[in-house]
Amino acid sequence: LPLPAPRRIKALSQDVVNKIAAGEIIVAPVHALKELIENAVDAGSTALEVVVKDGGLKLLQIKDNGHGIDKEDLPILCERFTTSKLKAFEDLSSIGTYGFRGEALASISHIAHLTVTTRTKESSCAWRAQYADGKLTSPKPGQSADPKPIAGQPGTQITVEDLFYNVPSRRRAFRSASEEYAKILELVGKCAVHCLGVSFSCKKHGDNSSGVSVPANASIIDRIRVIHGSALANELVNFKAENERWGFKCEAWISNANYSSKKTTLLLFINHRVVESAAIKKSVEQTYGTFLPKGGHPFVYLSLDIEPQRVDVNVHPTKREVHFLNEDEIIAIICDEVRDSLSKVDTSRSFMTQS
Ligand code: ADP
Ligand code: MG
Repeated sequence: LPLPAPRRIKALSQDVVNKIAAGEIIVAPVHALKELIENAVDAGSTALEVVVKDGGLKLLQIKDNGHGIDKEDLPILCERFTTSKLKAFEDLSSIGTYGFRGEALASISHIAHLTVTTRTKESSCAWRAQYADGKLTSPKPGQSADPKPIAGQPGTQITVEDLFYNVPSRRRAFRSASEEYAKILELVGKCAVHCLGVSFSCKKHGDNSSGVSVPANASIIDRIRVIHGSALANELVNFKAENERWGFKCEAWISNANYSSKKTTLLLFINHRVVESAAIKKSVEQTYGTFLPKGGHPFVYLSLDIEPQRVDVNVHPTKREVHFLNEDEIIAIICDEVRDSLSKVDTSRSFMTQS
């Protein structure tokens, strides 16, 4: 058979490239929300309100009371790689804020209708801007795309509507809005436990009652109590650990041996970013194995600070799994602390039963 002639190679259109990139970062509504929460926390907010319609596919709205965005920055806000958080590649190693690649808002603008309303404390009014495909767009044909002055409090409100409206295959992949909403509540719950000093609320559009509601002044135990219940909050132990050689510090709130659940709940933050680590989960579960009845699983909230140059910061934002140097050594130290804390509680109980 004759070989087929090679097909000519052509560049994909910029629009297709942007949609692919966006779809890699934001696979489900909860991923958009994670970026928006991180931005709000980065902006120094102490109050965060989330409203959701249809599991976030119809509407995802987040309102904060942070420092706001300068009106002059609104035209480039949703361009790819525009960020106020990173200027040189070297800054990656010292970056303290959560997101740092300037891709989140750009991505969202390529796959949803995005509206930003924001006011800095210096500004006498708020400004509202709408975006499509990385650029300012006019709300109605014939109108100007320039940001419009409106009344509003200092802070920022981001509205994401009709997520994946122009990616029908992705849109069709969502079977149930309630499944997406459950993921959203889980994420907001995690952030609400971690972000001391910040109030959180999350509810469905039109509902009076909130799925999550945590006041700003709540302690960590209170935050866990509100979200996971008293049965757990009454059985927590707290430890701190640090190690100079491996460049890390951590604080944890973990369930004691009196508590056990059908599956492990792991709230893991590394440098204040919510992440996953299969390695940490597995080791912690093993450590609990000797303390819990068969089939029982713990609750673990772990906040790890690792010297930024030791964390693999250059991972793609889709990678929710993180890796860091000396993972095994750090995990071993944490698990020793877990074991110590659990056995301390055990001894005090056996003392009490003896007396
Ligand atoms: P990154 O967070 O990586 O910088 P984003 O696309 O998430 O990229 O955001 C771009 C920029 O928009 C941020 O660097 C920040 O300056 C600004 N910004 C986004 N959300 C907020 C917010 N809620 N409050 C204040 N500024 C914000
Ligand atoms: Mg961001």
